[in-house]
Amino acid sequence: MWLVFCIFDHLLNCRHINFHPYLQLFYNMQHNNLFKHPLLAAVILFLGFWSIPSFSFAQDDLRVEPPSWWAGMKHNKLQLLVHGKDITAMKAVIKYPGITLESQESVENPNYLFLNLLLDQKLKPGSFDITLTVNGKKTYSYRYEIKQRDAGSASRQGFTPADVVYLLMPDRFANGDPANDSMPGMLEKPDRSKPLGRHGGDIAGIRKHLDYIKELGVTTIWPNPLLENNNKAASYHGYAITDFYRVDPRFGTNADYRALVDEAHGKDLKVIMDMVFNHCGLNHWFINDLPMKSWIHQFPEYTRSNFRAESITDIYAAETDRNLMLQGWFDTNMPDLDQRNPYLREYLIQNSIWWVEFAALDGIRLDTQPYPYKEMMAEWSKRIFMEYPNFNLVGEAWMQRESMTAYYQKDAIVGDGYNSGVPSVTDFPLYNAMTRAFTENESWDEGMARLYYVLSQDFLYANPNYLLTFLDNHDLNRYYNSIGRDLQALKMATAFLLTTRGTPQIYYGTELLMDGNSGVSHGDIRKDFPGGWPGDTLNAFTPQGRNAGQNEAFDYMQKLLNWRKNNAALTHGKLKHFVPADGVYVYFRTAGEQSVMVVINRNTKDKVLNMSRFAEGTAGYTAGLDVVNGNSVVLGAEMNFPARTATVYELKK
Ligand code: CA
Repeated sequence: MWLVFCIFDHLLNCRHINFHPYLQLFYNMQHNNLFKHPLLAAVILFLGFWSIPSFSFAQDDLRVEPPSWWAGMKHNKLQLLVHGKDITAMKAVIKYPGITLESQESVENPNYLFLNLLLDQKLKPGSFDITLTVNGKKTYSYRYEIKQRDAGSASRQGFTPADVVYLLMPDRFANGDPANDSMPGMLEKPDRSKPLGRHGGDIAGIRKHLDYIKELGVTTIWPNPLLENNNKAASYHGYAITDFYRVDPRFGTNADYRALVDEAHGKDLKVIMDMVFNHCGLNHWFINDLPMKSWIHQFPEYTRSNFRAESITDIYAAETDRNLMLQGWFDTNMPDLDQRNPYLREYLIQNSIWWVEFAALDGIRLDTQPYPYKEMMAEWSKRIFMEYPNFNLVGEAWMQRESMTAYYQKDAIVGDGYNSGVPSVTDFPLYNAMTRAFTENESWDEGMARLYYVLSQDFLYANPNYLLTFLDNHDLNRYYNSIGRDLQALKMATAFLLTTRGTPQIYYGTELLMDGNSGVSHGDIRKDFPGGWPGDTLNAFTPQGRNAGQNEAFDYMQKLLNWRKNNAALTHGKLKHFVPADGVYVYFRTAGEQSVMVVINRNTKDKVLNMSRFAEGTAGYTAGLDVVNGNSVVLGAEMNFPARTATVYELKK
């Protein structure tokens, strides 16, 4: 019996053969210890023995990516990656009206074929078999589906400066389905006691709290990556993807993801997908069976990136430095993809388009923008906008200087002629200024002047309003921590973030005064949202579950967010600011007849301002409506502004 089992076991482990269900049953019986019941085993074995030789080939034998496509896409080509045992010499056959199999390409690894398809504009939705044959005999078969595009999918409006983005970490936001915390085949099991462990948050949790997000007043959700991260440890953050076409089962299914987007859209909320192009997870299935050596950057021993993103724009950079930046691995468990490889480049581009179409996305957040080859990313953005002209992309351009940030934005005016095609980029220079401006001592170039210096560099940007502005994110100290747990400073900073130029982004929990230091651990800045887990003692999703300070922060943010939504001066108005003086910073946002005046007095004492200095902003207006407390004031020659407060007036004629 044991010998028979061993043979079957070996055969069943041959990936390319999908055995008759009887053999699968036999296998399962052994693995489930059913042979402890000898009579049952004997009956099953006897009944099934009739049909052993009739094994067949089925869908599971082949992996085809993208796993499906759509009729009516602008780009008329599709390259399918096909993976199966020893398929390199097989002949692919596709018979479907509107599709021409132009060529098939073999690569170094005999387990791959790349099929180049030409799609006719008259291609209709439907399904067909992709068959691989040997001497005309069908050996493998894969059922492929051409789907109907959603109505209006091509004209979908991406997020804009009228939106405010809410960034949340799915594993840490809310656990809507404890049943999926541990899933078969997934290596890491939940452990909420570990700051870097999996805590069980999921898509169901986000869906459950969409009303909270809506109520806060943000308009767009950016969850950290939701795709499969089947890694032994630290899989919760999502940036070591092991399957580019599958939502991690501990978060839910692909269908759950689409349902989240549909539900969000139903509440007028947009959704941005976080995508990674620089690297994947070490356990990615194609890393275990690389199509070719040049798919990833390989070194004789583990070689880390130098993380010197400046070397990409530096015209004097040594090739050694630039190559190490581009080719070194981000981390030990993140193989570095080589986007110069034309098959990989096409694979990644099609993957993005597949998700935009499949999940009806409103934007993509591009992880580690300077790390993948910039030429590939420019081609990628072109292809995205070819299909979705009104879409939006935001690149994580984590740079210290305005000039280098500007380089990564679409239509940048730069010496080497590079154009990333990415409309939004992260504004780290302004972030750096905001972490200090509200707490340090005021001087010629410190305090409020920091904000002024950063904004006065905006001539470098092709489009300053499309900069993603933020007080913190999943990689940075919690803002409340940066400013020494000072609620008044948080309120001033929030008012500034939501009224200056740019597209604001808020990190989940900042509205709850969540504290955390990235130096302690990344887990410290990615704590669980209180109330997101069954049995949590406090539920901060409700006012009753928040303490007084949390409610003050939440209410303040909520007021400004909901007011901002419909204020043209803020969503697309011009900015005019005055050089900060004596710890007071005054600026105006204006669009047509709408005008907003902001006065940030960060002093510990009230300040009386001579208003004549600001006449070019106030001319033609007689009164101001205080957006926060609802009071109306008459604009006078001298006005008093309270200590440690941002005063926001809607100006009235
Ligand atoms: Ca869960």
